[in-house]
Amino acid sequence: MIDDTKIHNLIEETKKNAVSEDLIGEILNKAKSAATKPSSEFSQTITLKDVATLLNVDSKNSSLMQKIMSTAFDIKNIIYGNRIVLFAPLYVSNYCINSCTYCSFRAENKMIKRKVLLDDELIEEVKALQNLGHKRLVMLMGEHPKYTLDDFIRHIKLVANVKSDPFGSIRRINVEIPALEIEDFKRLKATNHIGTYILFQETYHRATYEKTHTYGPKADFDYRLDTMSRALKAGVDDVGIGALFGLYDYRFEVLALLQHARFLDKTFSIGPHTISVPRIKKAYNTPYSTAPPYQVNDDDFKKLVAIIRIAVPYTGMILSTREPPHLRKEILNLGVSQISAGSKTDPGGYKNKQEHSAQFSLSDERPTNEVIYDLIQMGFLPSWCTACYRSNRTGKNFMDIAKKGDIQNLCQPNALLTFAEYLLDYADEKIKEVGWELIEKERASITDPSKKKFLDQALKKIQNDARDLFI
Ligand code: SF4
Repeated sequence: MIDDTKIHNLIEETKKNAVSEDLIGEILNKAKSAATKPSSEFSQTITLKDVATLLNVDSKNSSLMQKIMSTAFDIKNIIYGNRIVLFAPLYVSNYCINSCTYCSFRAENKMIKRKVLLDDELIEEVKALQNLGHKRLVMLMGEHPKYTLDDFIRHIKLVANVKSDPFGSIRRINVEIPALEIEDFKRLKATNHIGTYILFQETYHRATYEKTHTYGPKADFDYRLDTMSRALKAGVDDVGIGALFGLYDYRFEVLALLQHARFLDKTFSIGPHTISVPRIKKAYNTPYSTAPPYQVNDDDFKKLVAIIRIAVPYTGMILSTREPPHLRKEILNLGVSQISAGSKTDPGGYKNKQEHSAQFSLSDERPTNEVIYDLIQMGFLPSWCTACYRSNRTGKNFMDIAKKGDIQNLCQPNALLTFAEYLLDYADEKIKEVGWELIEKERASITDPSKKKFLDQALKKIQNDARDLFI
C-alpha cells in the first residue's frame, strides 16, 4: 500500500522540476480542468510525480505559491461551493494503554487526570453541544480496558437519543476510536448511528512510527495501516484518514496519504470520505510535543493543505482547532471543507472543564458563535447538513456523486436549510442579522427552478417549526 522507496525517489527526482513555472502551471491546469469536467477517473487527476513536484516548490516562492493556493481554492469552489461544515469533538474517556510520544493521554503520563464520562455527564455534554447548535459530533476515546467498545457502543446509542429544547438533536456521530477487528466494525456499524470512521496513521514512515509508538496495541504499524481495509470489508463505508504532521517529513506523509487514498479507491472503489491535517500541538507533561522533530512551519502547512485539495478534489478536508484563528481563516481559502468549532479535548470539558485532562492544547478557542460569525463575514455558508448519511448516500454511492462533481447540487439547499434552523434556534442577534441576508443571497443565486421551489417550501416549513428537511 505504501511504497517508501518510490516516495523517496519521487521527492528526490522532482526537486529540479519544482522551480519550473511552466511545469507547475501545466500541473495546476491539468488538475483544474479535471475538476471542471469531473468523471469516474476524477480520483487521479494528477500523478504522484506531479504531487511531489508541487510539494518541492519552495513555500517562500510567492508567485508559485499564489498559483498553487488559488488553484486549490478554485477546485474547492467548483466541487463544494462556499459551504463549510461544522462539527465538534466529544471525548468520552482519556484512559489509554498506548505510548504515543506526542499525546498526553499516553499510559506513562502519570500527571494527567483520567476520566471516563458517566452517563449523566455524557448527556450533559451532549446538551451543551446541542445548545451551541451542533448536529454533528466526532466521538473519541483512548484505548483501555476501563472503557471498552461495548461501553462506547452503549454511549453512541445514548448520545443519539439525547434531545434538548428547542430542537436539539445529534444527527450524525462520526467516530475516532482505536483500530478494530472486522467483527467489531460490524458491531459498530450495526448501531445505525455512526457516520465516518476516522483513524489517522499518524506517520506513514515505519521507522518513525516504531520510534514514537513503542508499546501497546497501537505499536503494530501494519495492523494500523490495514484498519481502513477491515472497516470497509465490514461495511463501514465512510472512512477518514490523516497524518499527524511533525513526526516525519511532510512531503513523505502527503505522498503516502495519497498512496493510501488511491489504494482504498482502487481496492474498494471508495476513496477516503475525509482527510484530516492535524499538526502536533503542545500536550500537558509531554516533552516530545513541544519540539517535534519535523515541525511544519505555517507556509509549508498552507502549501500541503492546498496540494491535498488539488490532488484529491472529491474528498472532504478537515481542519481542527489545533490551528490559531488567523491561520484557520487563511486555510479556509485553500480547500478545507469541514472545521471543528468551540472544541474541548478533555472528557467533560464542555460542561465542567478539568485542568490537566486534555489531549493537547488548542490554538483556536473562539466560542462557536464567533467562528460562525467569522465564516459568514468571509463569505462562507455554515452547514450542519447530515442528509447524505440519512439518505443512504454513503460509501460508493457518495463517491459516485462526488466524483461526478454533483455534490454541490444537493448540498447547497441542504446547507441553507440547516443554517436557517440554526438562525431560528440558536443564533444570537448579531448572527441573525447577517445570516438571513446570506440565505437570501444564496437563494437568489440558485438558477434551477425545482431546486428553488423545494428550498422555498422547506424554508416556510422550518419557519413553522418543521425540522430536519433535506433532499
Ligand atoms: S494518541 Fe490515542 S492511542 Fe495514542 S496515547 Fe493518545 S489516546 Fe492513546
